[in-house]
Amino acid sequence: MKVLNEGLKKLGVLPLDERQLDMFKKYTQILLHYNQFMNLTRITDIDEIIVEHFLDSLSIVGMPILESAQEIMDIGTGAGFPGIPIKIYYPNKHMTLLDSQKKKVEFLDEVIDTLNLERIEAIHGRAEDIARDIKYREKYDVVVSRAVAPLPVLLEYAIPFLKVGGCFISYKGPNVYREIDKAQRAMEVLGAELIDVEEMEILNSNKTHMILKIDKTTKTDSRYPRRSGKPKKSPL
Ligand code: SAM
Repeated sequence: MKVLNEGLKKLGVLPLDERQLDMFKKYTQILLHYNQFMNLTRITDIDEIIVEHFLDSLSIVGMPILESAQEIMDIGTGAGFPGIPIKIYYPNKHMTLLDSQKKKVEFLDEVIDTLNLERIEAIHGRAEDIARDIKYREKYDVVVSRAVAPLPVLLEYAIPFLKVGGCFISYKGPNVYREIDKAQRAMEVLGAELIDVEEMEILNSNKTHMILKIDKTTKTDSRYPRRSGKPKKSPL
């Protein structure tokens, strides 16, 4: 796990302490164990897990918007990326992990238990449905998401969860500018504004890691998100 702190140094942020490093070690063990029976990750090499799952997830730590956030949600978290690494890095922040697959949520509950994580919940459901629940709608300072949907679809999932003034941080790959072009209308309709596009330099990775920051500027119309499946079928 030492390479994790080397990677954080390269990102210019504070290192993890022994306790946090131990949590990442346990997380790796549970991930690889459950991956034998269920489809959690294609990556099974430990060094690659550290780079492409842990360091990629942690590439946004230290950003002022995240430092000041109290309530964070990860949409379509799967095996917990980027939500669990961010939660381990920031033990005092509240994290909501959301996924539409029940089995993944059961796995996340196991991780939460084993790592003794507090101020975290894993919920089962589709973003389109959960965003209509007043317990979750417009309650978050930051929403994160990686590898879930094209940007116009993702915006309809994410923006309704944010408070006005909150920020959606989207992890994207090399086609990010094409996705941004297609997302102009969605941003207008949902009350969101692209603030920044940044390429992250991840230690030992030869992939392109792009981070988008999108601010929520106005309250989202109650028509959004549309009913389950509709954002994907006919993006805004
Ligand atoms: N974010 C993780 C990562 O980067 O490793 C998982 C990515 S996986 C390709 C996409 C995940 O998004 C799946 O676990 C799927 O169940 C979830 N998902 C897809 N559409 C969703 C929706 N509308 N609401 C909630 N979860 C969704």
